[in-house]
Amino acid sequence: MIEGQPLPEPDEDSRPFWEGCRRGELLMQRCAACRRFRFYPRPMCPGCRSFDSTWEKVSGRGTVYSWIVAHKPVMPAFADRVPMVVVLVELEEDAGLRLVGQVRECANEDVRIGLPVEVVFESVADDVSLPQWRPRRG
Ligand SMILES: [Zn+2]
Repeated sequence: MIEGQPLPEPDEDSRPFWEGCRRGELLMQRCAACRRFRFYPRPMCPGCRSFDSTWEKVSGRGTVYSWIVAHKPVMPAFADRVPMVVVLVELEEDAGLRLVGQVRECANEDVRIGLPVEVVFESVADDVSLPQWRPRRG
């Protein structure tokens, strides 16, 4: 854990996502009407406006859709982590289903668009784990 690191504050909509992360499962909210996945968690489907949704465990596999290198820390807590690569990962379940994170077990200069990655869960507090990424193996 990084001293001073901001932690997620689960609410009614996002609680299943964070509880899944704590258990080591990547859960995505899915519309019960049109079956479209969505992230971030929210009450209404952006596709069909249905309020009915379920939570489904997804593969945790995706590819780097885009990335940047942060050279200045956005908060003092991250001062010793820069330069830091921040990636946008598109999950294989659905084009447009994307999460922000960081790539572990990979040199910054090896991150590229299209890099196949898989989720890893990083414990940052007693009851909080964050989904991060590493290059896919095999
Ligand atoms: Zn829908």
